[in-house]
Amino acid sequence: MSVVGRLAPSPSGEMHLGNAFAALLAWLSARSQGGQILLRLEDLDLPRCPARFSQGVMEDFCWLGLDWDNDPVYQSQRFRYYEDCLARLDAKALLYPCYCTRRELHAAPTEASAPHAAAPVYPGRCRELTQAQRMELEARGRRPALRLRVPDQVYSLIDGHLGPYAANLAHEVGDFILRRSDGLYAYQLAVVADDAAMEVTEVVRGRDLLSSTPQQLYLQDTLGFPHPRYFHLPLLLAPDGRRLSKREGDLSLLALSKRYKPRELVGVLAHWAGLLDVPAPVSPTDLAAEFSWERVPTEDITVTALP
Ligand code: GLU
Repeated sequence: MSVVGRLAPSPSGEMHLGNAFAALLAWLSARSQGGQILLRLEDLDLPRCPARFSQGVMEDFCWLGLDWDNDPVYQSQRFRYYEDCLARLDAKALLYPCYCTRRELHAAPTEASAPHAAAPVYPGRCRELTQAQRMELEARGRRPALRLRVPDQVYSLIDGHLGPYAANLAHEVGDFILRRSDGLYAYQLAVVADDAAMEVTEVVRGRDLLSSTPQQLYLQDTLGFPHPRYFHLPLLLAPDGRRLSKREGDLSLLALSKRYKPRELVGVLAHWAGLLDVPAPVSPTDLAAEFSWERVPTEDITVTALP
C-alpha cells in the first residue's frame, strides 16, 4: 500500500520552530518511503485563522523546501461533510446534546482524572436527560454542544515511534465533544473525517496529541474508517521546560527567515531530530534518502540556543 502522509498546520498565527520540526518529520517520513504528502489547513476556527496565516504557513513550507501533492484542503470549507459525519453518528444513537457550561463542569466532581488526560473526564451529567429536560434547558436559552458516547473499553495502539499506548475511554476520557455549543466543529471530528477522506495512511505529529489517539481510533471505528499508522514526536521545549509556542515571537519562522538560510535552519532541525551529528546546511530532499525513525529521539528536546 502506498504511503500518504499529511502536513496539518493550525494557521492561528505565525509558524514557529515546533511546527516546522513536526512538518519536516512528517514530510521526511512520507517522502523517504516514496509516498505522497498532502496539505490540510486546520482553520476550523476561522475568525482565529484568517487567510493570511494560511498563506504565511504555505510560504514558510515552501521556504523550508517542503512541498506537497494536490491542492491544499481547508477545513473551513468542509462543514457540510462534518455535518454528514455527525448525522451518521446520530443515526447510531451515539450523540447527545450537552448543556453543561464550563463553569458547571469545573464545579462538578469528576471520576478519577486520568494521569494523561488533557481535560477532566466528563461526568456524564447530560447523558440521560429526558426530552422534557432538554426542552426546558433550551427554553432558558441554553445552546447544546454535541457529545459522543464512549464505551467502557480500552483503545490501544502501537505508536510507530513511541510504542504502545492505551486508554479506557469511559474512565480516562469520557464522552467527548464533536460540535461545540457555538457551532464550531471539534478538532477530533474534523481530523478523523479528513484523514479518512484524504486517504491518509500515516499521521506524524507532536506527542501532545498521543492522548487524543484512542478517541480518534474509536471515532474511526464508529464511522467505518480505517486506522492510519501513528508516529508521535518529542516536543521542542524552551530552556524553562515550557513547550515552544507561538508566544516565542523570536522563534517564528518569519523572524528566523531574516537570520538564516532555509538550508541552515533545516540543518538545525535535522540535528535536533537526530539525523545530523552537527547542524550543517542541508535540504529536506537531501535528508529523505537517509531518514530513519530509529535516529529520532523519543525524549523531548530542549532548545537552548540556535547556532
Ligand atoms: N493541527 C494540529 C497542530 O497543528 C495537528 C493535528 C494533527 O496532526 O492531528 O498541532
